[in-house]
Amino acid sequence: MREKNTLCVSESALCLSLQFLSPAGAQGVGHKEQPMEEHIRQHEFFMRLAIEQAHRGMVNSEGGPFGAVVVKDGHVIATGNNRVTSTNDPTAHAEIVAIREACCRLGSFQLEGCVLYTSCEPCPMCLGAIYWARPARVFFGCTRHDAAAIDFDDDFIYREIATPLHERRIEMTPLLREEALAVFAAWREKADKTPY
Ligand SMILES: [Zn+2]
Repeated sequence: MREKNTLCVSESALCLSLQFLSPAGAQGVGHKEQPMEEHIRQHEFFMRLAIEQAHRGMVNSEGGPFGAVVVKDGHVIATGNNRVTSTNDPTAHAEIVAIREACCRLGSFQLEGCVLYTSCEPCPMCLGAIYWARPARVFFGCTRHDAAAIDFDDDFIYREIATPLHERRIEMTPLLREEALAVFAAWREKADKTPY
């Protein structure tokens, strides 16, 4: 784990300091013997951390007001906040930042058994990343409509998904399918692949 930590680049110091942060007396989110009220308090504790990440990143002008936390067995594995404008990375949404950090720390491309807390309902990009990372559960604070009200209109991307290719705002054109399929055929035959 120590060796893996050195490879995790984003905000390592903060993440290290938060790595084993958990609410007092926590047995781990999802522990079956805990009373329901205790569960809710734990979820609220981690959501407030996500909201703090959103606020801190915004105050530091790192990007939009969005934060996220990945928790496993009641411990914070990774945190993230939106860094789109400060890193010139349109994919640096809080959830993506936190998922990358968490996967790096866990040494896995899956967030099995993890819970993701995000200060806002995920945009379609982050929703896709969440499904690829496969955490057990997601909690979100603000809704996509709240985000649209401060000019972060993720909702139009949700609508684009349901729009036919030729009617989308960004033109999507099929090209050279047969040549591209050759790589898929090679993948199908690849003996040492890591399926996911
Ligand atoms: Zn997003």
